[in-house]
Amino acid sequence: MDIPNHDLSPGWIEECQICGSRNLASVIDLGHQPLCDSLLTPEQLKEPETSYPLHLVRCLDCSLVQLDYVVPGDVVYYPEYPYRSGITRELFNHLQRLSVDVVERQSTPKDSLVVDIGSNDGTLLKGFKRQGMRVLGVEPTNIAQIAIQDNIDSVQDFFSERVAEEIVAQHGKAKIITATNMFAHTANLGDITRGVEKLLDEDGVFVLENHYLLDIVEGVQFDSIYHEHLRSYSIKPVVKLFNYYGLEVVDAHRVASYGGSVRMYVARKNASSVSQNLLNLIAEERSAGLYEGAVYDRFRQKAIQCKRDLYNLALTAEKNGQRFVGNSCPGRASTLLNFVGLGKDLMPYLAEQPTSLKLGRHLPGLHQPVVDNAILFSEQPDYVLLLAWHYWEPISQDLRSRGLTSKFVLPLPEIKILEP
Ligand SMILES: [Zn+2]
Repeated sequence: MDIPNHDLSPGWIEECQICGSRNLASVIDLGHQPLCDSLLTPEQLKEPETSYPLHLVRCLDCSLVQLDYVVPGDVVYYPEYPYRSGITRELFNHLQRLSVDVVERQSTPKDSLVVDIGSNDGTLLKGFKRQGMRVLGVEPTNIAQIAIQDNIDSVQDFFSERVAEEIVAQHGKAKIITATNMFAHTANLGDITRGVEKLLDEDGVFVLENHYLLDIVEGVQFDSIYHEHLRSYSIKPVVKLFNYYGLEVVDAHRVASYGGSVRMYVARKNASSVSQNLLNLIAEERSAGLYEGAVYDRFRQKAIQCKRDLYNLALTAEKNGQRFVGNSCPGRASTLLNFVGLGKDLMPYLAEQPTSLKLGRHLPGLHQPVVDNAILFSEQPDYVLLLAWHYWEPISQDLRSRGLTSKFVLPLPEIKILEP
């Protein structure tokens, strides 16, 4: 079988990232945008800022939804990348549950090797370690050092075939390999998949979790489109990808994290049977129209409607002398605000929890400062836009219980105002 090129070079992409087809159709063009996690220091505000094309397209042959431009990996995941998975309680709990689910599903014997690709601060691996597993993280950014200080053995590098070979030589093969929110991100999908194939034990499982296209489309989550997310997965094209490498998707189900994700289990071909769950979910994708064009036309129209409504709400507040501010600064906030064009004049700051690594920096493109959320309580703004809307329940409960009386605004799938 001819394998298409799965190791992309930076720059413009004219082919489907999985099947190599050139039959690509536009889904939504968000214009040129800065990198969403490149928050700027006060010094950087004095310098020019780079923007890159942010255009979502879909493959008419295998139905993959992808970006058509690759930003170099070392520009996106620079050493001071400010994302920490252990910080939000919801994500922490989710990752702990994931580790328990996988060990139970596989009946993994104690002392088996578990490798997490894109292991961040080691939060997921701590869950596996607690269950008696040997754990090893692979993480390219300096956040790896936080994991190492917490006694989570980590390699500070990009995962690749070479790194996989080194791990096998030093630690043996892995019974479990995990990749949460990275497998849709990387330009070197081929290198990584070959690495997984080398590292995976005969009866091992590779568990990947990513934003799910079905949730993105149903929830009009255009804010999940950013340069890190080179591909937005449905299951069908992922089945095709692993097929090229002697691997097979054997199970899948939906999980709630990040506003809707899909977890897929991948094994060696014919090593285990394909679950009914997987077949049902593919059937659901088909009946939801993910393999046809009309659903993407509606997605684009709804995204533009949201842009219009949110801008109007902020503009009306400004005209009425009311205060309209943002809360939280997840990566998706950058896409949303830059697409809508909500600048400092209409939304003066983004409030973040005091432990955030983003405090003191500025949103790319629009340059709002990220400030300690203590300001919300002293200022009591009229409107607070919840940019981490996928965690709106715990966030709004927390802010209310601490005495915030503002109206909360949820941006998607359509504008919703929550009165105090
Ligand atoms: Zn394709």
